[in-house]
Amino acid sequence: MNAVHVNPDACIACTTCTVYCPVAAQTEAFPGPRMIGPAYERFRLLGMVEDPSLSWCSNCKNCDIACPQGVSIASINMMARAREYEKAHPHFLRDWIVSHSETLAHLIGPVPAGLKNGVMQNSLVRGILDMIGIDRKAFMPSYAPRRFRTLLKDLRQPKTGRKVALFPGCYVDLYDPQAGLDLVWALNQAGCEVVCPDAFCCCGVPMVASGFMLDAGVNAKRNLIEVKKLKEQGIPVLTACPSCELMFREELPTFFPELVSSLNCDSALVDAQEFLLEAQSRGEFKLDVKPGAGRYLYHAPCHMRALGIGLPGFELLRRFGVDVRPASAGCCGISGSYGFKKEKHEVSIKVGAELFGVVRDSGCQAVATECGTCRLQIAGATGAECRHPVSLLRSLAER
Ligand code: SF4
Ligand code: SF4
Repeated sequence: MNAVHVNPDACIACTTCTVYCPVAAQTEAFPGPRMIGPAYERFRLLGMVEDPSLSWCSNCKNCDIACPQGVSIASINMMARAREYEKAHPHFLRDWIVSHSETLAHLIGPVPAGLKNGVMQNSLVRGILDMIGIDRKAFMPSYAPRRFRTLLKDLRQPKTGRKVALFPGCYVDLYDPQAGLDLVWALNQAGCEVVCPDAFCCCGVPMVASGFMLDAGVNAKRNLIEVKKLKEQGIPVLTACPSCELMFREELPTFFPELVSSLNCDSALVDAQEFLLEAQSRGEFKLDVKPGAGRYLYHAPCHMRALGIGLPGFELLRRFGVDVRPASAGCCGISGSYGFKKEKHEVSIKVGAELFGVVRDSGCQAVATECGTCRLQIAGATGAECRHPVSLLRSLAER
């Protein structure tokens, strides 16, 4: 890991990335992506000590989206953070907790969800968590009574003979299994039978964002071995989480080039919304969504925009005649676990303020967005109902 660097020399110092960085716009503590990314990387290559403001980068990728030179600025920042935190991790316990939700869920697995959630909402517990750096005002997800992958095993699906695998992502698996079941429902409608292998584990995005690159590498190996096996059997591997999708498609080859080449495997997963759009185009995915089902807002997650594949979840809703319009109000601010962190929470809320205003003023019935933590942040800040686009589509089709 320590040897991996993204070449900063493509940077022409135009500063476009800094203009589009939502964190730099809200705090003077962060000089922005140009300075802390490619410019400082040259000093890092000369062995200079790290700039402490690096910790402010949220890994939202808005800099990457804006850069006309295609510099992977956020990856420069994440790899520099990993190298620095391998020496000394400034918030080890807090960062480990917020970036290892799947391991944590295994450890407290036998405890009933109601008890876990009650403890997590207890003001004394929130006070203790606040003391270790998890802000007491942060919107925390609630554990579902049963994980998505367990529910899927009990689900009776039509035997179509056409299998797809779904990489659920931790948010759907642990906190919002209904979104996963809604995807399975849609894929069943499109003539597919869905599997979710036990070997799938966290994609590693939260670990990367908190500097645990070695842990992310362990998960990457386990996931890629399974993805390769499935692809060799002709089973497409889908995901509906933009952050997982970005991790597999772009970040695994950047962060772990030797692993990816040694496995000789295309790491990219298929976007589940795009898969459904294509099935609809071929006449294989038909739904009857009656007009007059209300007005909805769509929030494009930053990592979905960073994928550069358009907005297939939004397009899917439009394709079935849903009255939905884009919020077009930038980042929600949470960036995975960034908004949970005490020293970042206030900035996270400021970053999302424009979007929260648009949601409150919209008069829409619900907000649709693919990213689980975007749903958490928008619902927490505005009180609006937030759904995965496919969940919304299912509820409208079944009205
Ligand atoms: S990833 Fe986001 S927070 Fe980090 S430098 Fe880029 S735009 Fe700014
Ligand atoms: S937008 Fe790209 S080229 Fe311009 S300063 Fe940022 S990294 Fe450099």
